[in-house]
Amino acid sequence: MKKHNFSAGPCILPQSVLQKASEAVLNFDGLDLSLIEISHRSKNFVNVMDRARELALEHLGLQNKGYQALFLQGGASMEFLMVAFNFLETRAGYINTGTWSDKAIKEAKLFGDVVEVASSKGANFNYIPKDYQIPSGLDYLHCTSNNTIFGTQINNFPETDCPLICDMSSDIFSRVLDFSKFDLIYAGAQKNMGPAGTTLVVVKEEVLGQVSRKIPSMMDYKVHISKDSMFNTPAVFPVYVSMLTLEWLKELGGVATIEKNNNKKAELLYNEIDRNPLFKGFVANKEDRSKMNATFSLVNEDHKLDFDTLWTEAGINGLNGHRSVGGYRASMYNALSIESVQVLVDVMKEIEKKA
Ligand code: PMP
Repeated sequence: MKKHNFSAGPCILPQSVLQKASEAVLNFDGLDLSLIEISHRSKNFVNVMDRARELALEHLGLQNKGYQALFLQGGASMEFLMVAFNFLETRAGYINTGTWSDKAIKEAKLFGDVVEVASSKGANFNYIPKDYQIPSGLDYLHCTSNNTIFGTQINNFPETDCPLICDMSSDIFSRVLDFSKFDLIYAGAQKNMGPAGTTLVVVKEEVLGQVSRKIPSMMDYKVHISKDSMFNTPAVFPVYVSMLTLEWLKELGGVATIEKNNNKKAELLYNEIDRNPLFKGFVANKEDRSKMNATFSLVNEDHKLDFDTLWTEAGINGLNGHRSVGGYRASMYNALSIESVQVLVDVMKEIEKKA
């Protein structure tokens, strides 16, 4: 039996997707060739790329709205600098809600001035800042929708008159938002989409081409758009698996359906964290809690050995928290079933009885 995989990323993917992906590695499209040994220029792969790009826009409700979807390489970390390369002329604003925002800020500072519009760094990122003033004249404002390490998630996105850019690596396709509020969205594949190795970038074409600097081709979103996301050899396997996952999501009923599942899973686990006297949540305000990554710890570390033994024996994987937070982190990405969350909740109840 498969483990209950609460890993933060790379993480759980739908079993049917893994099955199809493994078949395509042996024999893709009935070609008697592997997906990973055919030309990326072949009609069969170009169809995959086109379909993946189309599905990404469809799930975000951004078809025929002037947006382009790209599957690039270098991870979300590459987007930290590509964003600045393509948009930062003088001054950009960043909302600092975690390690990944912090890293994005560091890269942007190589290209121009960075204003930290708001930050929760002083409280080890245990909340989402609100009620901040956004200065005028920014080239763009950058935020991180879900903070994978700390387990916080933005619910109310800033209203701006400058381009709004968002790192959605760990909650893309998990909830319905008005995605047309954003001018550029990026997300590493390895949470809700596919294996590590490709990054989805969704960008509104009209906001590009505003900086005066010369941009190397590989760093230039316009170049990738002009080549239909095939400027160089794309990460064929990660793009294919992402396409399969996006098809799976569509068959399931799309983002609105998965959001209902995600809400139920998060409610089940957070209710137990709040009810069970042995545990406490990490996030300061309940409204900032992430539906993707729940961070919590034992009130009394004396129970650690028993708890760790119980969840390991129950077939749970990937529950240890990030070293900068400690405790536990249950990542409940799209492909995780509510039954797996129930197994974790049962273990939490069991340890309470034993204590
Ligand atoms: N942003 C967020 C929100 C992340 O969770 C991560 C990685 N988990 C990254 C950026 C960095 O992604 P990558 O490792 O693909 O560069």
